[in-house]
Amino acid sequence: MRSLILFISCIFYASAADLVLRNGKIVTLDPSRPQASAIAIAGGKIVALGSNEDVAREIQPRTNAIDLRGRLAVPGFIESHAHFTEIGQSKIQLDLTAARTWDDIVAMVATAAKKARRGEWILGRGWHQEKWDRRPVPEVRGFPVHTGLSRVSPDNPVLLEHVSGHAVFVNAAALARAGISAATPDPAGGQILKDSSGQPTGLLNEAAQQLARSALERDLDRRSAAEKNLEAERVIDLAAQECLSKGITSFEDAGSPPEVIERLRRRAERGTLPIRMSVMLRTSNDGFRNWIAAHPGRLIGIADNRLTVRAIKRYMDGALGLRGAWLLEPYSDLPSSTGLNVESLADIEQTANIAIANGYQLATHAIGDRAVRETLNLYQRVFAANPGKADLRWRIEHAQNISPADISRFAQLGVIAAMQGIHATSDAPMVIPRLGPKRAEEEAYVWRSLLNTGAHISNGTDAPVEDVSPIQCFYASVTRRTKTGETFFPGQKMTRMEALRSYTVEGAYATFEENLKGALKPGMLGDVTVLSKDILTVADDQILSTQVDYTVVGGKVVYER
Ligand SMILES: [Zn+2]
Repeated sequence: MRSLILFISCIFYASAADLVLRNGKIVTLDPSRPQASAIAIAGGKIVALGSNEDVAREIQPRTNAIDLRGRLAVPGFIESHAHFTEIGQSKIQLDLTAARTWDDIVAMVATAAKKARRGEWILGRGWHQEKWDRRPVPEVRGFPVHTGLSRVSPDNPVLLEHVSGHAVFVNAAALARAGISAATPDPAGGQILKDSSGQPTGLLNEAAQQLARSALERDLDRRSAAEKNLEAERVIDLAAQECLSKGITSFEDAGSPPEVIERLRRRAERGTLPIRMSVMLRTSNDGFRNWIAAHPGRLIGIADNRLTVRAIKRYMDGALGLRGAWLLEPYSDLPSSTGLNVESLADIEQTANIAIANGYQLATHAIGDRAVRETLNLYQRVFAANPGKADLRWRIEHAQNISPADISRFAQLGVIAAMQGIHATSDAPMVIPRLGPKRAEEEAYVWRSLLNTGAHISNGTDAPVEDVSPIQCFYASVTRRTKTGETFFPGQKMTRMEALRSYTVEGAYATFEENLKGALKPGMLGDVTVLSKDILTVADDQILSTQVDYTVVGGKVVYER
């Protein structure tokens, strides 16, 4: 008798849910049951979904049962393009995003220089010359000159990354460490900005950044292995905390080198990666071949769907703010320039051929309309040469400016537009100066036009370029309203359901995981985000104050407000 009772209780124990969320408005994005009040998760997967009564029997003494009190629960947000370790790094560097002037930045560096050891690099990120209240004095093309920075930090090299990640600003000590002088020529795909007397100003654009970054890497490399390891692990912890606190349960990393991926893999296998990651490989073509040889069959859903690596990242051009986006016609505010092609077409085509032969997704950064067209042309050529292999869901990252002639090609070729809603509203003030009003209206952040052709659009923030918050990005996607209250070409707005899909179903589609996540239904992963307000129905101005109340990954509450 006793063993029978034990046996029966074991059955109950086994079927009890780990987590039940009840009494909520659960929007599932599963067309067969769009809404429910309760959800039960056991063993990492959804086991029941329905009314409170339907799910009641899943609640056992060991179940964590949470009363949502009517709040909205949605499939866990999927950030489809951001930079994971950079998010962590940004937490341990000077945050320059809020600086109102160049002098503010110089003052922040002065304070840091007083505390730094002699020779230690001072790092910062997030400045944007267009967001300052006044132009720096002196200036070259709107950018500052390094003298002030060099004066406050004579012995410490300083490297300050532009918010876009496409330029750095350095002081004299860093120029010296990098071996850059008036005589140094521009490297291919980059520019060392010089003043009228030919001296470097401190701004290193696109590929020229690498001169200073290599000097930094050489110096960082001299630290002890223990020191390096500790920082790398801390960066992952900080990035994960930041994402989970904002409701993100899956993160698509837009390019990391093999050593970062191996570190993430070790954490996934040890059970210490609290967020799901899909990482695009960032390496040379030789590095890509070596990676494939060492990882036959790709890394798909390893460690209980914590880590996937089946994509490779390339860059066709730069960023619009720095006039590095590659355009079909010259910049309206710099008629001598059409921007930059930063990695050669031939080299990217080689990547494409390796990718298609080995079943890899290619994700190419393309912001200007010329870069988008060249990428579409390249994809089309490679697909045509490999019939039957065009189902790899190749992506164009950002796709910010698309010639009207190219819009329908995304859906035709099955190419995903991996866009960032928040870029439209934060870039808006400089888009019309750069492109002129006609191009801006026809080409810039045209997600409505893309959706009308049936294209897949995933959403994200490119963090740390922008805050990683899906709520802010959702708001930008559905309102196109800037910080100063203007609406940027409202005809291109997404509906709220489209924006939610772009952050869930479409994010999952972009990593071939639509049968695992992005919607809530029995058998799928138990990843859920609970919000303080119903972002599907509240007034526009209420969206931004919405808070993430719970983040659930695999049935475990990993963040609670
Ligand atoms: Zn990016």
